[in-house]
Amino acid sequence: MDIFKTDLGEITPMDNFGRDESFFRALIENSADAIALMSPEGLITYASPSTENVIGYTSEEFMGQNGFTLIHPDDLDAVQAALAPVLKTAGLSATFEYRFRQKNGEYRWLQGTATNLLHYPAVHAILGNFRDISKQKQSTDLLLASEEQARILLAREQEALRQAEVAQKHLNDLFVQAPALISILTGPEHRLALINDSFRWLYGNREFTLGKTVRENWPDLEGQGFFELLDRVYQTGVPYMGNEVLAMIDRAGTGILEPGYFNIVYQPANDARGKVSGIIVHAMEVTEQVLARQRIQNNEARLRRLIDANIVGVIFCDMEGHVNEANDVFLQMVGYTREDLQAGEIDWARMTPPEYTEVDLQALKALREKGAIPKPYEKAYYRKDGTLLSVVVTAAALDESNPNECVAFILDNSMQKELDQRKDDFISMASHELKTPVTSIKGFTQVLLKRFEKRDEPDIYRFLSIMDLQLNKLTKLIGDLLDISKAQDGKLTMEQKPFELDTLVAEIVEQMQATTATHNIKLEGKTNTTILGDRDRIGQVIVNLVTNAIKYSPRASTIVVRMLHREDQIAVVQVQDSGIGIDPIHHSKIFNQFYRVTNPDEPYPGLGIGLYLSRQIIERHAGKLWVESTKGEGSTFTFSLPIVPDVLP
Ligand code: ADP
Repeated sequence: MDIFKTDLGEITPMDNFGRDESFFRALIENSADAIALMSPEGLITYASPSTENVIGYTSEEFMGQNGFTLIHPDDLDAVQAALAPVLKTAGLSATFEYRFRQKNGEYRWLQGTATNLLHYPAVHAILGNFRDISKQKQSTDLLLASEEQARILLAREQEALRQAEVAQKHLNDLFVQAPALISILTGPEHRLALINDSFRWLYGNREFTLGKTVRENWPDLEGQGFFELLDRVYQTGVPYMGNEVLAMIDRAGTGILEPGYFNIVYQPANDARGKVSGIIVHAMEVTEQVLARQRIQNNEARLRRLIDANIVGVIFCDMEGHVNEANDVFLQMVGYTREDLQAGEIDWARMTPPEYTEVDLQALKALREKGAIPKPYEKAYYRKDGTLLSVVVTAAALDESNPNECVAFILDNSMQKELDQRKDDFISMASHELKTPVTSIKGFTQVLLKRFEKRDEPDIYRFLSIMDLQLNKLTKLIGDLLDISKAQDGKLTMEQKPFELDTLVAEIVEQMQATTATHNIKLEGKTNTTILGDRDRIGQVIVNLVTNAIKYSPRASTIVVRMLHREDQIAVVQVQDSGIGIDPIHHSKIFNQFYRVTNPDEPYPGLGIGLYLSRQIIERHAGKLWVESTKGEGSTFTFSLPIVPDVLP
């Protein structure tokens, strides 16, 4: 709103009013603008007739109203602010635009000029001059609106452009970086128009020459039928699609062709007239997938051959017992039919006698934890007819995705078991058969020894003594063999009587010392304990250990028999030698029947029975027998026995 000073001094309206009032009245009353006089408070004191044209009120109607009340509330503050200086200063004018309520209630835009004529006594009012500017306003509004529209359109266009650029870039990225191999060929000779990075990477970042033909760019593909396929697509317009197509390609540019498998699409591209003008090549390398599948197929074929070879029983089963698949060997072994299998009637858990449940549980634990059983184990199955079949079993979990499923290999062990049984029977029978004559020979030898004791026949007496000694060895051997048979049949009986361990150990050490001139047996420590058990059998164990200590330490002279009383109510006896020692791989095996560590350079006599029997005896007394040994450095055999404090003598 403009505020300006009017130089009223020169016009001197007072004079003009005075001179020719009708002239001014005519001027005012014919003016197109509405002219009004009002008090500083807004009260209209005069309104020209054209007021009606501008605001709808006749001059009579308008006079007496307060002009401010008709101003649009949104514009009132601005109008009053513009008027404030005018009201204060005589002769000051201000022009402003505002909305004014018409007689009909509608608002119309007016431009008003207010001039302070309060100091003119004849007027003493604010002179208001206002005109309707709605039309101008409307066109300005229209102009503004169209400007805004243009701005919006421009913004939209820019946004569309930006989006198009993004899409273009995206497309470009897709094309360039796509894992697929993409190229565009043009013309009947398939000249390279475009190629993406994947194609370059496939060939170890090799550069291709745009504009050159496929035959020039891909000499390695010559003679493999690809160019001919492109020719056909170009000529017929029919796309080509090939899955897992083998291509021999020179990946490294060394001239060596390597196999690669690709899923290929040759898509014809038409020109504006619908004629084929080029080909879009889209290919995906699937070599790894194809090779992986081939590997799986090969493995499957191998496994199938193994299963079908029917050398060994094979079953696919779950850990609960359900057998899903089995080969003929297994079915024959257990006497079931394929129909039984298909009907889900074969269940390895139900076929297992209860005494093997424990070993099975251990095997299942290993399967779950390690995916395989550490070594094959012996067990048995009930055949369909109820008879027992001895087997050796091993199994492995099939894969991690289905940890419950496994494959098991089953070997019929009945032949081996039968042989073992025959051997055991033979040992039992032979030892029994030998026992009687040997006892008899021993008896007669004793009689003869007595007879020749006092005769002067030293040679005969010496020979008889040697015979007696050898007969002792033979008797012990036969005794051991008999014990083995008994142990196998679970008939190894043990007495249950209290005895002092220290006395027993001391007695045996004394006896054994008398039989050896080469070794010194040192007795160390005391247990001060009473053991409840079989004194002779425990004695047999100590004899075995000391005998071995002497036998297996030919170049050492000292053997220590040590007794300890452990606080946890356990008595411990150790037999330590400085002999040939035992490699740790044999440590657990030497307690098996007939197991011997072979030593071709230095053969030691023996049958591999002593330690087996010793362990049986100690375990029957709820004790433990074990070895600590290093090859070449000697061995320490230790057994522990529980003490029975309340049976002290
Ligand atoms: P044998 O002595 O009759 O062969 P054992 O059962 O007593 O049978 O011992 C089994 C095997 O353990 C022996 O063949 C031997 O190889 C090994 N062995 C036992 N005691 C000792 C020892 N003190 N030092 C070295 N090796 C031993």
